[in-house]
Amino acid sequence: MSFQQQSLWSATAPELPSFANRPLPERADVVIIGGGYTGLSAALRLAKLGANVTVLEKETIGWGASSRNGGMVLTGHKHGIGEMTRVFGMERARDLWNASLAAIETVATIVQEEKIDCDFARRGHLDAAYKPAHMKDLEETHELLERDFDYTTQIIPKEKLRAELDTNFYHGGMVDERSAGLHPAKYVRGLALAAQRAGADLHDATSATQIEKSANGFVVKTARGNIFAQDVIAATNGYTDRATPQFQKRIIPIGSYIIATEPLGNELASQLIPNNRMIFDTKNFLYYFRRSPDDRIVFGGRAAFFPESRDTVRESADILRKGMLEIFPQVENYPTAYAWGGTLGFTFDIYPHAGQMDGVYYAMGYAGHGVALATYLGQQLGNRIAGKEWHNPFEGMNFPTMPLYSGNPWFLPFAALYYRFLDWVQ
Ligand SMILES: Cc1cc2nc3c(=O)[nH]c(=O)nc-3n(C[C@H](O)[C@H](O)[C@H](O)COP(=O)(O)OP(=O)(O)OC[C@H]3O[C@@H](n4cnc5c(N)ncnc54)[C@H](O)[C@@H]3O)c2cc1C
Repeated sequence: MSFQQQSLWSATAPELPSFANRPLPERADVVIIGGGYTGLSAALRLAKLGANVTVLEKETIGWGASSRNGGMVLTGHKHGIGEMTRVFGMERARDLWNASLAAIETVATIVQEEKIDCDFARRGHLDAAYKPAHMKDLEETHELLERDFDYTTQIIPKEKLRAELDTNFYHGGMVDERSAGLHPAKYVRGLALAAQRAGADLHDATSATQIEKSANGFVVKTARGNIFAQDVIAATNGYTDRATPQFQKRIIPIGSYIIATEPLGNELASQLIPNNRMIFDTKNFLYYFRRSPDDRIVFGGRAAFFPESRDTVRESADILRKGMLEIFPQVENYPTAYAWGGTLGFTFDIYPHAGQMDGVYYAMGYAGHGVALATYLGQQLGNRIAGKEWHNPFEGMNFPTMPLYSGNPWFLPFAALYYRFLDWVQ
């Protein structure tokens, strides 16, 4: 099979100017490590509030998960609302849920105010039931949201599923109209330009190697020189490295992979996914898929559990294509045109975390739900550092680690077996 091993999104977004080899400042009010949604959203907010802010990105701005994801701007978090209510009680679960809604509005506002041309559209999402028994879970979620969260979703029984999805593969689903879709690389590049317009100082190819406390702040060390900063934000999510060991031992990097077909044409694409929803299913080893703005099928999943590499992209592309054809045999004659991978940031409790540790601000651990939330938490960290009112739905939550874990997830193959087993029996 011949396809390009790069993200469809990066290949179809206007290129950014290079931010490499620009002189580093000696001082900044805030140094942000990581040039994805979290870092750039924080930079935009801080620059707008008048702070002198420098963003360090070890590759190129937007290089990480922010230019390679599914572009699904989703309500909720990785854990379902039932689980959040059981673990935290109603009040905190409501706060977490409402933050996810506010996060979508934050993306919508930034896109509109900064005139970011990124195909943002409120299409809603469909959570598709992989097994008949999963419909009961979706129905319980639907009822809980209606009763205790004053929030309406729609249950789609199997016999009506064709109005959403032209397949026999699933057993019904739940539609949430509030979610949206966008072109992730256009969005992250638009965010970068907006942050730069607001006055943020962006740097490609500049890896932060160490952060040292100093009298009135921090010294951020890089191979190109040191920067003194009053405040530092770690915005490195799945790519967190030894520059911030306190976060590296709390983040589990997990590979996720996506393929995109050749364009199907509007007629076939509209037949397969008539309402143009963002779709994911109820498996642990889930599939997520959608139409691209140019009517391809973009189909992703955790086909391998390792951080991405060229070999795992090739293997995953085959696995994903088989999965896609089981759902949509209609696309058999449309070859895979692009295949790529990216690294998700998971945490040991599968909740995102944000706040301050050892004096360093952070927001990370979105577990595949970061497009909206990373944007939101970046803005909120900006507010916090600038002394404005801020909201952190994860305030006070313990950010767990595991004894002897320092960032190398040796246990992932075992976890993968366990989750495949659960998908088989549940
Ligand atoms: C394949 C895939 C599909 C996904 N699909 C969805 C989806 O549909 N919907 C959704 O909501 N979420 C999705 N996600 C998750 C979402 O993309 C992320 O949660 C989000 O992009 C995180 O943004 P971020 O800015 O925190 O991290 P990233 O965008 O990953 O950026 C972190 C950056 O930090 C840089 N960095 C790391 N260490 C250093 C250092 N020492 N010095 C300088 N720079 C450093 C890295 O190079 C990287 O560019 C997906 C993720 C993947 C991988």
